[in-house]
Amino acid sequence: MRTVKSCVGTDWCRYGVQDSVGLAVALELRYRGLRSPHKLKSGVSGCARECAEARSKDFGIIATETGWNLYLGGNGGFTPRHAELIASDLDTTTLVRTIDRFLMFYVRTADRLQRTAPWIESLEGGIDHLRDVIMSDSLGICASLDEQMARHVAGYADEWAAVLDDPDKLERFTSFVNAPGVPDPTIEFVDHLGRRVPAGMKDGQPTDLAALGLGGVPITDGARIPMGAPA
Ligand code: SF4
Repeated sequence: MRTVKSCVGTDWCRYGVQDSVGLAVALELRYRGLRSPHKLKSGVSGCARECAEARSKDFGIIATETGWNLYLGGNGGFTPRHAELIASDLDTTTLVRTIDRFLMFYVRTADRLQRTAPWIESLEGGIDHLRDVIMSDSLGICASLDEQMARHVAGYADEWAAVLDDPDKLERFTSFVNAPGVPDPTIEFVDHLGRRVPAGMKDGQPTDLAALGLGGVPITDGARIPMGAPA
C-alpha cells in the first residue's frame, strides 16, 4: 500500500468541499501493511477539479458537496486507465466500508501480480458485478470481508520499528557478521546538490541541468530538513 496522495482540500484551497487531507491520512493508516497481490495506490481530491488525480488510482475518492464519489480500478504506467465510478455521494462510513470490501475481495481472489484494473476486467460482469458484491452483498460474503479487514486493522504492527526495538533482529543488518562494526567499503555515498545519494546514481544529471541553464546551481534554496547519516 503506497502513500495515499491527496490535494490540499478544505484546509488550504478555496474550492475544497471536503477534508481530503484528513481522509487520505485515515485511509493510509487503515490500510498500511496490507498484503495484496500487487501494489495499491490511492488518491483523494477535495473537489471535482481532481488535483490529486484520484481516477488514476486503484481506489480514488473525489469529494462532492454531500459526500464522496468512489472510483475503482485505475492505474498509470504503460497502460493508463481511468478508474470507474462505483458509487456517488457516500458518507464517510459507507465509503470506508466499501473500500474495505473492495480491497479484501481483491486480496482474496486476484492472481499474484494482478493489478486491480485487469482483475475487475476478469470478473464476469466486470464493475457491475463488483458493485453487486461489495455494496449489495450478492455473494453473501460481506460479513466475512468486513471481519478480515477488521482483523488486518487491529493486527497492524510496524515491522521495521519492531526490528529497531529488537537487538537480535537488528544484528542481522550488519555488513559482515564476523566484523559487525566495520561498514561495507563498497557502499559509498556522495553529496549531490546538497543531498546525500549513493555514489554512481547521479550520472547524466549535470548535463540535463546545464541544458536548462542550471549547471552548478542548487535546485532548491532556502530552509531544508537536515538529512543526517544513519547512526
Ligand atoms: S481538487 Fe479541488 S480542493 Fe483539491 S486542490 Fe484541487 S481545486 Fe482545491
